Amino acid sequence: MIKKGSKSYSIFYNKCPKCQSGRFWYKNNPYLNIFKDNKLTNSQCDRCNFKYEIEPGFWFGAMYVSYGISVAFLMIFGASLLSVFGNIELLTIVSVLSVFVVILAPVNHFFSRLICINIFVDYKNPNK
Ligand SMILES: [Zn+2]
Repeated sequence: MIKKGSKSYSIFYNKCPKCQSGRFWYKNNPYLNIFKDNKLTNSQCDRCNFKYEIEPGFWFGAMYVSYGISVAFLMIFGASLLSVFGNIELLTIVSVLSVFVVILAPVNHFFSRLICINIFVDYKNPNK
């Protein structure tokens, strides 16, 4: 159980980084946000009215987080493939990894924005 008030609570429960009550994304499922509703994040928190896009171009920072997540995934999963299937061809590894990166792109996008905004915004308890 992740404690409310921590940044990981906001990231894993899809909550506003400031009040941790309102939702950051419309849905908790990354695939539903992109493929079904065709919407991105809420523009502001429905509880504390915190505007999520702090400044114009703020989400460009999420690209760097997304890149880091992708590289970490590729290194860990690629090394796992190599260790499980010892003499596998490089083209096969690259193909398998490419398919997984494309399939997991909405999940990566979902978490990269949440991580990016949690780097810059701290939780403020409204009761204090
Ligand atoms: Zn809020």
